[in-house]
Amino acid sequence: MTNPPSSVTVIKDAANRYFLSFVVEINQQLLPESPNSVGIDLGIKTFAVLSTGEKIDAPKPLKKRIKHLRKLDRNLSRKQKGSNRYERARVRKAKLYARMKDTRKDFLHKLSTRIIHENQVIVLEDLNVAGMVKNHKLSKAISDLGWRQFRTFLEGKAEKYGRDFRVISRWEPTSQKCSCCGFVGGKLDLSVREWTCLNCGTVHDRDSNAAVNILVAGGHSETLNGRGGKRQTFVKEAAAVEASTHLEKPVQLSIFDILQ
Ligand SMILES: [Zn+2]
Repeated sequence: MTNPPSSVTVIKDAANRYFLSFVVEINQQLLPESPNSVGIDLGIKTFAVLSTGEKIDAPKPLKKRIKHLRKLDRNLSRKQKGSNRYERARVRKAKLYARMKDTRKDFLHKLSTRIIHENQVIVLEDLNVAGMVKNHKLSKAISDLGWRQFRTFLEGKAEKYGRDFRVISRWEPTSQKCSCCGFVGGKLDLSVREWTCLNCGTVHDRDSNAAVNILVAGGHSETLNGRGGKRQTFVKEAAAVEASTHLEKPVQLSIFDILQ
């Protein structure tokens, strides 16, 4: 499956867990061409809305776990820095935090693998995560979401399996534009989840409409055959044909990435 690793690094994380990190050149494993393409709108309430209308929620950390994490955090703040007790409390908190992160990473891996397998062209809206994280209200929620990681997974897997992954600028009016007739309405408040196009009367779910616009903005031709009509998709470029059969640059993967 893969070539011998050119290097192996041992990594110890904050939870005192050990990882072996291999640098390997991976061969492409081209998948049979798919007739499907998809636009993806990432959000806070719903993790991802696809242009097919599918909504995907991320697994929420169990309330019990969050409570436990807070308790460990309080516990840690009472210890004297540098003491043995402090170190023990720090590791306990880091271990729980690592487990929560692993759950999220597992979800992101499974979702990105499925999307790559099902679609030839994948279009994602580029999000200004750094800018949004400055808004403190949202910062906690966003940094936990793993948008950046999701994009990285999609990018890597698209390359590996010969799919066409595109990112569109976040300045495209994906929310305000009617995906049926192209009419651009006014700015929608974040609380508006459903709206009616003033031009053609189509009732849109905010996120699904945005996801269709993301797909179209990705340079992919798609026609909507009226309301609820059949979508016809044309894959203009066959990424599988264009892509070389070998990755030029080595990709650093952890053992968990290889197992995916
Ligand atoms: Zn319209």
